Amino acid sequence: MPSNMRELPKGYSDTPVLPDSRWRVHDADRPAPPVVTPPGFSTQERPGNPPSDATVLFDGGGLDAWAARDGGAAAWPLVEGDAVEVAPGAGDIHTRAAFGSCQLHVEWRAPAEIRADSQGRGNSGVFLLGLYEVQVLDGYDNPTYADGLTAAIYGQYPPLVNACVAPGAWHVFDIVFEAPAYADGALTSPAHMTVLHNGLLVHHRQRLQGPTAHRQLASYDKPHGPTGPVVLQDHGDRVRFRNIWIRPIERFAAA
Ligand code: MG
Repeated sequence: MPSNMRELPKGYSDTPVLPDSRWRVHDADRPAPPVVTPPGFSTQERPGNPPSDATVLFDGGGLDAWAARDGGAAAWPLVEGDAVEVAPGAGDIHTRAAFGSCQLHVEWRAPAEIRADSQGRGNSGVFLLGLYEVQVLDGYDNPTYADGLTAAIYGQYPPLVNACVAPGAWHVFDIVFEAPAYADGALTSPAHMTVLHNGLLVHHRQRLQGPTAHRQLASYDKPHGPTGPVVLQDHGDRVRFRNIWIRPIERFAAA
């Protein structure tokens, strides 16, 4: 420490105890949070580095962390040196590992060439627990039903805003997912999602109605486990993905 630097208190032991906590206000003994190197910023040309404590699911180096529907090797082609592209007809791919509540970062882009409109344009999806879809779609100047728009919680909640960039440009999803919980086959806590699309808040701790459904109501009628894979959807469009990382979150309350 430089000799001319003023040294100040690192906390107090004579302050009131916080409600619902064993710690005092400004408690000197309260554990310091772990130090994490934050992610680097991505540009259209280059993805940023993942944060130091993330589980990297895809960095362009291969699909070892992923499998096809039947459990075999994921057959989507690697492209551009740092991306992977949906192979139409090959089916969804899923992570070999299972995750529960988490922070998930995914970058993706829709084909620059437009061949259809509405749900036929750059359609894919990111599923948490393999069940809860955040919609991937080229929603730039592309009218479709609101709860199927880009970044929608598909079939349930439209995004708060349409944050789409032009087809061919990279998008960023940052998703905080709180897994639902069951006890004795009954739902005790529903799933919640917070989603930022290209840095804009589009879902704020939205309570989900159940696993994603198409043309019908979602429900929690079929209990499932607390974890599951991240799934990327093959909806027949050559959507590309890059820079996918996840941070499991065991609990949301700070120590
Ligand atoms: Mg989809």
